[in-house]
Amino acid sequence: MAGIFDSGGKTVNKGTIICIDDDRLILNSLRDQLHRIIESGYDIEVAESGGEALEVFAELAAEKTTIPLVICDQNLPDMGGDALLSYLQLQYPNTRKILLTGDANLEMVIRAINSANLYRYIAKPWDETDLGLTVKAALQSYLQDEQLLEQNRTLRTVNAKLQAEIAGRHQVQERLQASEHRLENILNSLDDVVWSATIENYQLVYLNPAAETVHGYSVSSFLSNPDLWLDVVHPMDRHQMLHFFDQLLAAGHLYIEYRILRPDGEIRWLKNRGNVIVDEQGTPIRFDGIIYDITEQKRAQAQLLHDAFHDELTGLPNRNLIMERIAQSLKRQHRVSEYQFALLFVDLDRFKIINDSLGHTVGDQLLVAIAHLLENCVRASDTVARLGGDEFTILLDGIQGIEDATQVADRILESLKSPFLVGEHSVFTGSSIGIAYNNEHYTDATFLLRDADIAMYRAKALGKGCFVVFSPEMHAQTLSLLKLERDLRSAVEQQELMLYYQPIISLRTGQLTDVEVLVRWQHPERGLVMPSEFIPLAEDTGLIIDIGRWVLQEACLQLKALHQKFPTASDLRFSVNLASEQLQEPNFIADIDRILALAGLDGRYLKLELTESMLMAHEEKHIQTLQQLRDRNIKISLDDFGTGYSSLSYLYRFPLDTLKIDQSFISRMMAETKDAEIVSTIISLARTLNMDVIAEGIETEAEASHLITLGCEHGQGYLFSPPMRQNKLEESLKEEKNWLDRSNPASISVVSLNHQSPQPIIDNR
Ligand code: C2E
Ligand code: MG
Ligand code: MG
Repeated sequence: MAGIFDSGGKTVNKGTIICIDDDRLILNSLRDQLHRIIESGYDIEVAESGGEALEVFAELAAEKTTIPLVICDQNLPDMGGDALLSYLQLQYPNTRKILLTGDANLEMVIRAINSANLYRYIAKPWDETDLGLTVKAALQSYLQDEQLLEQNRTLRTVNAKLQAEIAGRHQVQERLQASEHRLENILNSLDDVVWSATIENYQLVYLNPAAETVHGYSVSSFLSNPDLWLDVVHPMDRHQMLHFFDQLLAAGHLYIEYRILRPDGEIRWLKNRGNVIVDEQGTPIRFDGIIYDITEQKRAQAQLLHDAFHDELTGLPNRNLIMERIAQSLKRQHRVSEYQFALLFVDLDRFKIINDSLGHTVGDQLLVAIAHLLENCVRASDTVARLGGDEFTILLDGIQGIEDATQVADRILESLKSPFLVGEHSVFTGSSIGIAYNNEHYTDATFLLRDADIAMYRAKALGKGCFVVFSPEMHAQTLSLLKLERDLRSAVEQQELMLYYQPIISLRTGQLTDVEVLVRWQHPERGLVMPSEFIPLAEDTGLIIDIGRWVLQEACLQLKALHQKFPTASDLRFSVNLASEQLQEPNFIADIDRILALAGLDGRYLKLELTESMLMAHEEKHIQTLQQLRDRNIKISLDDFGTGYSSLSYLYRFPLDTLKIDQSFISRMMAETKDAEIVSTIISLARTLNMDVIAEGIETEAEASHLITLGCEHGQGYLFSPPMRQNKLEESLKEEKNWLDRSNPASISVVSLNHQSPQPIIDNR
């Protein structure tokens, strides 16, 4: 319906009044009267029949024109006025309807009032004043109704809006509740503690249930007892915890790590991360925070730290830690003049052999047992560390003098004399100990360790099982040893190595049977260097592989040349010394094959000299290797026999051809009956085992004749010839020399010139 008022209240179109009568005259008069009666703003339409009236209504409806009033005659040509009005009532319930009637039929009027909601009926002919009042009242009531309706409509939309708003609020509230619920679920299921506290007095106002799991106290006990949060903190950390809130307030956000003591006595590490919550103006209103249990993390860190400074196998401090402690002792020494300390470097003798022969598990168990033993030899304030392998160091802290250190060293050497029971094995191991004593010239912990190490090497060189206190000269010697090592590396390439030859003869006939090949080093500055000075060094540094290979190849080539040059010596055999490292080298047999092929030499002209200790480890593998050598007709000699291990059972197990009686027995046998007995026993043992026997180091006629009476077949020694250069060997081959012939005993004097016997610096054999 179009509006009755415009926005300014000025009357525009108040609607159209419709008058219906089949009498044109009445219609005109009615219209004229209405124009006079009603105020402006109303249009008036007329219709002469019910049908025409309906058309007018339809047109006005299409224009959305309001129809406040219809005045209709009862007697229309096509229908009754009451029926028309009743019909219109359905569509225009609010339109005021006045019925004009000539003959007032009460029944019809009542029907019309009911069905058409008739406003009034007016009898024809009407009184204009009466009509005026009725029409005005009808329009007035229509307007009131319309206003009411309008208000009603407005109310309804307001109401609908309100309803929508209420529904919206409900939704928001539900969503809020749901998210609060979710948040609560999350907070309840967290492992971490979430807390809130007041700004004013740092009182806890919220804690999630994790607080109980972490602290061992209920949430309610925290909330009811304002001091509990501080009471649970470990006494050592309480002080810093006291200032946490103050600092947090100043910083805005902050974290703190501290320990708590749970009621069950357990100590846990926590990390508390706090935030200051501020309002829109930036004024602090609350503290919020999260507490993480970092106990496991701390334990892992502590473990890592421990691992970084301790040896995994023995649990002893490792190199890092002992270096740290030595550095501390050095600092202390510079501060406190009377403070003294010493560093012991303990290296086990024969550990490698034990490890290789009994296996790593036994080796490990032995190391653990030795770690305990060492700890028992010192005070609690001293530090026993394992550097790795079989090397231990001991820092003796705050001693009275060097005697304290040597006493400890003695104690260790003494304790290590008894065997260790490892599993079913009873293991003997000695140790060599180097001692470095404090001295104000030391500036660095590594120097102390280096010097203790040098002294330990000296102890080994002195025959093991003893201790040596470091002195500065040792350092110089070590430096020269280092230089020697450097020089040795280039010795093979520079062709500085050379071979010497020593005859092995038949003690019965004086004929040459074998020649032992012995290496020498023609050093550009030092002159001739003996094998005892550089073979142990070569073994330590692995250079022995190259040196040994060179010796073998050179010996085979030379032997082949001698065979060709001296047909009478075509059966001559060379005996070449082997080092343990060579035997263990995977390519050893292949190298032998290659060398024999290169020289065009048959294996039967080669004998290899091994020592007992070389065979102790990796027994099965060595039996196999020796068998492979035997397959090539190569002979095996056991060198320095009698100095090694007492168990003779391996003599049966290994394919061996010759025993060489160690020269120490030969040199003592004339004076010591014990040694004479050993020599005699070895000779009969060899006979029993069907092996050859060679006496080494025969220097006197007396020794030679005694050996002959004992039935020793072969001999070697300065009495017959020292090791000699190749030209000398060739000379003797040329003259087919008999070595028992004493007509020209020049050899003895040559011996004393050629053979120097320097003290070995390192002797690991
Ligand atoms: P070895 O195999 O027991 O050699 C015998 C050593 O005794 C040689 O010392 C020899 O000169 C010395 N000798 C011989 N007769 C007498 C004597 O009547 N009296 C005394 N006092 N000594 C005598 P050398 O040549 O100094 O060799 C020492 C050791 O060095 C050898 O002992 C051997 O184990 C090792 N060696 C020598 N050449 C080689 C080599 O090419 N390879 C390996 N792996 N080791 C070698
Ligand atoms: Mg030898
Ligand atoms: Mg020997």
